[in-house]
Amino acid sequence: MRFDVLTLFPEVIKDNLNYSIMKRAVDAGVIEINTINPRDYTLNKHKKVDDTPYGGGAGMVLMPQPYVDAYDAVKKLENSCTIMLTPQGETFNNIICAELANYKQLILICGHYEGFDERIREIIKPREVSIGDFVLTGGELPALCIIDSVSRRLEGTLGKIESMEEDSFSDGLLEYPQYTKPRDFRGYKVPDVLLNGNHKDIAKFRYQQKLERTKRRRPDLLK
Ligand code: SAM
Repeated sequence: MRFDVLTLFPEVIKDNLNYSIMKRAVDAGVIEINTINPRDYTLNKHKKVDDTPYGGGAGMVLMPQPYVDAYDAVKKLENSCTIMLTPQGETFNNIICAELANYKQLILICGHYEGFDERIREIIKPREVSIGDFVLTGGELPALCIIDSVSRRLEGTLGKIESMEEDSFSDGLLEYPQYTKPRDFRGYKVPDVLLNGNHKDIAKFRYQQKLERTKRRRPDLLK
């Protein structure tokens, strides 16, 4: 899968994908990450990408020309989806993530400062996605959340695909509690049922734990 990220800060994207599972996915060719800097597409002498808002107000607004020209320069594959990262978009979740994993290319448009001139939306007509009801300084971290969560669904990213199937949200519930060695840590013990080797009992225990935990922490998911 190919990710093309429009960003004024390409290092933020590249540096963050240089570790652990994501680095292995890049090295194995499961994913390919390209960055496009709208600043390289400016037509003005000072490579300015933002300006003051018409009508007044605080901060700087991203100008349409560098963003639309940078977007036009991205080679679009046949099965491609363009996403604008914005707190005003639909809230990202596991269902949207699964949907996005079906594309061959995601083009991610990151904002900064006060955000986008409205005409960038009107011209590009992207799918608008938010990662939650809070405001960050830029779209790079939201873009990385999407790249990471979508990539781990692709064959070849995780060692065992089952580890994804057991994860929270995969069947609508939160995951059961996990334990590893030692059996007893500061008097806190691993539940006996996990030690007796009876797979039927273990599966039953885990399912009960999932239900209980979801009911307590996220009753909205049960609905
Ligand atoms: N003035 C904008 C508003 O109130 O909708 C917020 C601009 S924010 C400071 C700068 C950029 O960060 C946005 O253009 C967007 O790309 C990104 N961003 C901030 N919060 C985000 C969120 N919750 N989800 C996705 N992107 C976000």
